[in-house]
Amino acid sequence: MASKFKAPRGTFDVLPSDSAARARVYEAAAGAFERAGYGRIETPIFEETELFARGVGESTDIVQKEMFTFEDQGGRSLTLRPEATAALCRAYAEHGMHKLPQPVKLWCWGPFFRHERPQSGRFRQFHQIDSEVIGTDSPLADAEAIILLADLLAELGVPGVELRLGSLGSFETRVAYRDELRSHLHANEGSLSDDVRSRIDSNPLRAFDSDHPGTREVMEGAPTMLDRLDDDDADHFEAVKAAVSDAGVDYVLDGTLVRGLDYYTRTVFEFTSDALGAQSALGGGGRYDGLVAELGGPETPAVGWAAGIERILMALGEAEEEQSLDAFIVAPDGQREMALSLATQARRAGVCVDLDLAGRSEKGQMKQANRSGAARAVILADDGTARLRDMETGEERPLDTDDVLREIEAERRKAGS
Ligand code: AMP
Repeated sequence: MASKFKAPRGTFDVLPSDSAARARVYEAAAGAFERAGYGRIETPIFEETELFARGVGESTDIVQKEMFTFEDQGGRSLTLRPEATAALCRAYAEHGMHKLPQPVKLWCWGPFFRHERPQSGRFRQFHQIDSEVIGTDSPLADAEAIILLADLLAELGVPGVELRLGSLGSFETRVAYRDELRSHLHANEGSLSDDVRSRIDSNPLRAFDSDHPGTREVMEGAPTMLDRLDDDDADHFEAVKAAVSDAGVDYVLDGTLVRGLDYYTRTVFEFTSDALGAQSALGGGGRYDGLVAELGGPETPAVGWAAGIERILMALGEAEEEQSLDAFIVAPDGQREMALSLATQARRAGVCVDLDLAGRSEKGQMKQANRSGAARAVILADDGTARLRDMETGEERPLDTDDVLREIEAERRKAGS
C-alpha cells in the first residue's frame, strides 16, 4: 500500500541497505582527520539568518534564493544551515579558540539545506564532510587540506577524480581585478545573460560560473585572476602548488575557478569526478582570510573545504549491502524464550545474531535464516538439543546448548568473518 505521505521534494530517506556504504565514508573520514590532528565539532542545524547573510555573502545564490529561513516564536529569523564554514567560524570566535595554540583544526559531518531545483546529485537536504584549519596563513595549511581530501577520495576508491586549483588573490588585488572585470562585462553587456548582467556590479566573478553561451564567449576573452596576482599572492600560490605536487597529487590550473561563496581569498580548489553527470563536483574549498573578522572575531586567516557525501557515494556506485549476521536462531514454539536468551548473550559478547519475532513456523524461520544472509543457523529442538547448520554447504552438526556462544565464536574465527 503506497503511503499518503512522501519525503519532501529534494529530500530522501537513507535506507538500511544504503547505510553501510555511508558508514564506510564516515569511518574513512574520521580516521583521516584523526591522523591529521583534527577535532570533531558539532554545531546547531540552524543559526541566526544574519550569520549566513554575512558569512556566505549577500550577493550569492545561496543567500539570495536558497536558504530555508523561518521565524521562531520569539520573532527571531533563523536559517537551516546551508554550509558549515560560517558556523564553525562563529563557534571559533564564540568559544575563544583564538587563545588555543594555532591553527585550530576542526571537522564536522551532517545535513545541510539549500532550496535548489532538485536533480540528479542535487538535493535540498544533503550531507557534507566539512573541514577547517583556522588561525594560519601558511600555504602548507592549504596544501595539507587539499592533500587530505585527495587522499580520502583515493582511499575510498572514488573513480575519475580531477583536482582544479586556482587563486583569487587577496582582497586588495581582487578589488582591482573586479573593476577590470566589470569594465570587460559592461563593454559586452549585450551578450550576457540577464542574471549575470544584473550582477555585474555586485558580483562580477560569478560570470565565470555561467552556462549561458553568450556569457561563456564573453568570459573566454576575460582576464583571469591568475594573471593579476600580486607578488605575495603569487608566492603563496607557488608554495601551495609545490607542496601539493610534492605529495604526488595531480592538479589542473584553473584561472576561472570561482566558488559559489563570497568569502574566499587566495587559494580555491575543487575536486570533480567524471563518474558523475552534470553535477560533477565532489567537494571543494579554499582560503578565507577575512571571514572570522567579518563575523566579529579577531583577524584570523583560515582555509577549509566541504565534500558532498551523496556525490561521493554516487561516484562510487556502491552496491546495496546486506547485513552480515554470524548466526540466525531457529526455534520451535517451546524454545522461543531460549532463542531470545541465547541471542541476548551472543549480542552482549559482540556476536551478530538475529531470530524470528513474527511467529513463523520452523520452515518459515529457515527461509528467513536464508534471506537474512546469516553464515550459519543455530537450530534448537523441542528436547533442548541444538544443531549448527552451515548455510552455504547445508552441513549440520550437533551443538552443546550450554556452549552455543563459544561455538559460534569459534566458527566465526575459523571462517575469518
Ligand atoms: P559547496 O558548499 O557549495 O562548496 O559544496 C561542497 C560540496 O557539497 C559540493 O562539491 C557537492 O559535492 C556538495 N553539494 C553542494 N550542494 C549540494 C546539493 N544541493 N545536493 C547535493 N550535494 C551538494
